Amino acid sequence: MVLKNIKYAIRNITRPPVTRMYPEKQSELSDRFRGLQILDKSKCIGCGICANTCPNAAIKIVKAPIAPGSTKQRWFPQIDIGHCLFCGLCIDQCPKGALSSGKEYAKGLVKWKHKDLLITPEKLAREVDLEEGDEK
Ligand code: SF4
Ligand code: SF4
Repeated sequence: MVLKNIKYAIRNITRPPVTRMYPEKQSELSDRFRGLQILDKSKCIGCGICANTCPNAAIKIVKAPIAPGSTKQRWFPQIDIGHCLFCGLCIDQCPKGALSSGKEYAKGLVKWKHKDLLITPEKLAREVDLEEGDEK
C-alpha cells in the first residue's frame, strides 16, 4: 500500500495541482448557478407572488424607496437568505421577470447574526453594498 502510494505520488509530481485556492481564487460558476437573487425594482409590482410561492416562507413584502434617495415608496420583496433554499421558484413564478439569480454565494451572505441575513430590497437591487449591515 505504501509503495503504491509512493508510485502514485511520483507519477503525479509533475502534474499541475488540483487543489483550489479558495477563497483567494474563486470557482468558475455555471450559467445556471443560483446565487443571491437580483431584483429589478422597475419591473417589480409588489404583487407578493414570489412570497406566496416560496416553500420556506423566506420572502416578505416590505415598503422601500423606489430608487436610491427617493422619498416615494412601493412594495418590494425582502429575502431572509438564512432560510432560502436557492430553489429558484420565486424567480420562475414572478409574473414580471423582476427577479433573477445572481452569482453571489458568499459575499454579504456569511454572517454571525441572523438579522444580517435579511436581504433588503436595496440589497437585492444592488443599490447598496452587500456587506453593509455587517456587525462591526
Ligand atoms: S418580485 Fe415579482 S413576484 Fe415578487 S413582488 Fe415583485 S413582481 Fe411580484
Ligand atoms: S429561491 Fe426558493 S427558498 Fe429562496 S426565496 Fe426563492 S422561492 Fe424561497
